[in-house]
Amino acid sequence: MNQEEILQIMRITGVLKEGHFLLTSGRHSRGYMQCASVLQYPQYTARLCEELASRFADVQIDTVIGPAMGGVILSYEMGRALKCRAIFAERVDGKMSLRRGFTIEPGEKVLIAEDVVTTGGSVKEVIELLKEAEGDLQGVVSLIHRSDSCLHLGTRFEPLLRMNIESYTPEDCPLCKAGIPINKPGSRGLKSI
Ligand SMILES: [Zn+2]
Repeated sequence: MNQEEILQIMRITGVLKEGHFLLTSGRHSRGYMQCASVLQYPQYTARLCEELASRFADVQIDTVIGPAMGGVILSYEMGRALKCRAIFAERVDGKMSLRRGFTIEPGEKVLIAEDVVTTGGSVKEVIELLKEAEGDLQGVVSLIHRSDSCLHLGTRFEPLLRMNIESYTPEDCPLCKAGIPINKPGSRGLKSI
């Protein structure tokens, strides 16, 4: 898949919205992302995961693990694409843990999957969990890396898309200046970009 095909799926499924948005931070932007939107459509999610899996074709993966909630569906679909086991980690009393009988054996070759990575907080917690279990981390995949800066996870990191949507103060917003009506967030608000 090329970049345009990936972007097309993100647009069709509503991951990428273009317009004039008021963010919860009070800033304005010309787009926003709702990464979970693509996970509503298994056929599209499967295609994206096939692409991510192809990037690890040279590596043996025994198990894919994703942090709940964002990584649950993605790791499952990655497991299908890589024909391996798929599990998820979840926080128990604030600590990322394995429950439900899920285990990682020492030396097991593991890939981490997360839907959207910004600062990599949850991914780093799963990396710690794997260290404790003596798993053999092979890399991290995500649908989107939402940042304009480099992220050092200490392992191979393959996001499908790197996105940085520009935002403006209301005073400097070119969309306001152009008279384009603003999209106000719903009760939950839009996530700040
Ligand atoms: Zn504006």
